[in-house]
Amino acid sequence: MSAIAIFQDQKIKEAKATGAEMFMGIPDAWYEPPHWGCDNGHVSRAYLKTRDGCACLECHKPLAIIPGGYTDETLSEALAKINNDVTLVAQGKA
Ligand SMILES: [Zn+2]
Repeated sequence: MSAIAIFQDQKIKEAKATGAEMFMGIPDAWYEPPHWGCDNGHVSRAYLKTRDGCACLECHKPLAIIPGGYTDETLSEALAKINNDVTLVAQGKA
């Protein structure tokens, strides 16, 4: 699972825990307006449409819809933490 997918999964669980309204498995509020994030921490309101689905405009990585309020900087920080946690688990340290 990519860091952006893990990030999205964590945020969906947090939203569900607070009783957020959901649509197609995504909290309603995330669609107004939608923001997408990629594994490299790019946040965008637009995306590239490819044969394989939606891709990041900057690096062409797959995108996940994410909560509003993130910037390239704060999303990159959140993904770095997830990547660090995944590495620790892989090394048996967590
Ligand atoms: Zn990107």
